Amino acid sequence: MFEALKTKNMTATAKPVPDPDRPGAFLPNGAAAKSGLNRSILDKGWHRIEVATRSKARYTGSCVVTVNPAYTSQTCNVCKVVDWTSRESQAVFRCTSCGHAEHADVNAAKNILTAGRAEHAQARPAVRAGARKPRSRVGRKANRQAAVA
Ligand SMILES: [Zn+2]
Repeated sequence: MFEALKTKNMTATAKPVPDPDRPGAFLPNGAAAKSGLNRSILDKGWHRIEVATRSKARYTGSCVVTVNPAYTSQTCNVCKVVDWTSRESQAVFRCTSCGHAEHADVNAAKNILTAGRAEHAQARPAVRAGARKPRSRVGRKANRQAAVA
């Protein structure tokens, strides 16, 4: 499962914020921290990881699902309550509703998995019991020719 992250937006450089008290000066805007984050996102090469995974999946019969990332890091995987204050820090998720506590990445990953499974189930509805196996075009043509002959 992949989050459809907009890596381009995430890696945009932080804009300088002018300091209202000191003309010509700029407030600290976390640009240094942001550029460190940029490097780690780009180093991992998410796009290349996704391409490689999709390629592998074709051989193993696995399914790669892309998931809308909205609120996956703010939603409690246990009670499903969405509250951005549940995200205590980069690492800690503690649900303000039910108290469920977990590493923030693990909680988000479970939400992505849940969303991906739901999407997958919708995209490929289960075959009805007793439904006839669809015949291929080639099969039908072969049948017709067999009847003519
Ligand atoms: Zn909860």
